[in-house]
Amino acid sequence: MQGLVTDPRMVQAYVGDASRIEGWADAVIRPQNDDEVAEALALATGRGWPVTVVGARTSTTGSSVPRGGLILATERLRGCAMLGDQVVAAAGERLGDVARFAADRGWHLPPDPTSRDEATVGAAVATNASGARSYRFGSTRAWVASARVVLADGQAFDVGVGQAPPDDWPVPIWAEPQVKTAAGYRSGGTFLDLVVGSEGTLGVVTLVTLRLRPSPPQVVGAMAFFDDVAAGEAFVDALRDGGASPRCIEWFDATSLAMAAEGPEGPPAAKAAVFAEFEDEAALEWLAAHAGGAREVAVASDVTGLRRFANWRARVPLAVAERLARTGMRKVGTDLAVPRGAGPEMRTAYRAVPMPSVLFGHIGDEHLHLNLFASDEAERLRALQIHADLAAQAVALGGTVSGEHGIGKVKRQLFAAMVGENVLSDFRALRRAADPRGMLAPGNLT
Ligand SMILES: Cc1cc2nc3c(=O)[nH]c(=O)nc-3n(C[C@H](O)[C@H](O)[C@H](O)COP(=O)(O)OP(=O)(O)OC[C@H]3O[C@@H](n4cnc5c(N)ncnc54)[C@H](O)[C@@H]3O)c2cc1C
Repeated sequence: MQGLVTDPRMVQAYVGDASRIEGWADAVIRPQNDDEVAEALALATGRGWPVTVVGARTSTTGSSVPRGGLILATERLRGCAMLGDQVVAAAGERLGDVARFAADRGWHLPPDPTSRDEATVGAAVATNASGARSYRFGSTRAWVASARVVLADGQAFDVGVGQAPPDDWPVPIWAEPQVKTAAGYRSGGTFLDLVVGSEGTLGVVTLVTLRLRPSPPQVVGAMAFFDDVAAGEAFVDALRDGGASPRCIEWFDATSLAMAAEGPEGPPAAKAAVFAEFEDEAALEWLAAHAGGAREVAVASDVTGLRRFANWRARVPLAVAERLARTGMRKVGTDLAVPRGAGPEMRTAYRAVPMPSVLFGHIGDEHLHLNLFASDEAERLRALQIHADLAAQAVALGGTVSGEHGIGKVKRQLFAAMVGENVLSDFRALRRAADPRGMLAPGNLT
């Protein structure tokens, strides 16, 4: 078939993702339109190959790592256009490029994963990606108006909001955690709901129409530094309850601030810091009245100042990556989210972890990332056990084992423990109905 790449050196370039797991595959194909996607799926069916769809392979869970067969790469599915107050983008477009395309025309695309400049739009849908601003605007799910989905048998559907799935799909109903979550099929979901977050298991997303909101005339960022963790946490509560409508509330512990300070013009040292963003200058008055517990509050509403905050925030994961590269240490990162009432208990558990660690992230949604640093294999195994214990605690508190990065291959055990065998078997039944040959995304999710 034209465009089928079987040269092992070329194929090798596609077999890993950000999880650092390596897979294997027989071939790669990079279709340029829906017909070529359907042809690729037919080819795989004919050869008995499994198919792993890949975007930019930034998955941290191994979800874009193939287990043999065909890698269907979306990188040549390109194109982006406005459609009234929505933007239509082919699956292989970078989310950040689509957001800039919309911003240049006066529109704001809210989903903002940290990886937005690499991650593709199709994958943002397939993983229900989210980011800091999901605190106010929700995850990608909230912004998808429709998606074109090619099923394993090559049939293409333009799926809109509210549309029922094919009659023979058994829609799972389960006790989905009522928190920010990217773990499993949406309970009682519509067709679109089931596809969002399906991690390549139900079909290939080829085209996405996203809702937009008018770009806000003003953005105000504020970073408050605290000498006392409890004062920082009290400020978080005030932000959530105080009527200032922040669009994100982010937490930095002392270690993450120290790591961010390793670069030029880093943030000052403190026991904790809280970053929030607003779309209204009235936030300045609110801050003056409510940030009294902070030692210092840095505020910015101009491009340079906002970029400085963005750099501080981006420095934390970068510094983590640099530390791993420099020391050869291994990281075990959590992605747990819990209901707001369970936040204090979960944070106490994070701080009690008997290992070098750093704690930062989306405290507004009680979705903090704890990164554990292991210096050898024995410590890495200990870190994995700590992760499993924390995940069990989060689930017992009504939370999820993944707030945003998904399940993929690396969190399957945690996920199975979260949902239980009956729900897993309902999920498998849905997969069988959508993909009777069990061709798509082997090893993901269930
Ligand atoms: C540094 C870093 C920061 C990150 N920050 C965030 C964050 O803030 N928030 C967040 O949510 N995630 C984050 N991620 C995880 C990752 O970037 C997201 O899951 C992203 O949506 C994946 O995009 P991708 O194009 O790289 O997809 P891939 O990694 O290639 O694929 C991810 C999954 O989607 C499936 N898939 C891809 N394209 C399609 C398609 N067109 N149709 C059907 N299935 C498809 C794949 O089969 C796979 O299961 C981060 C990752 C890194 C490395």
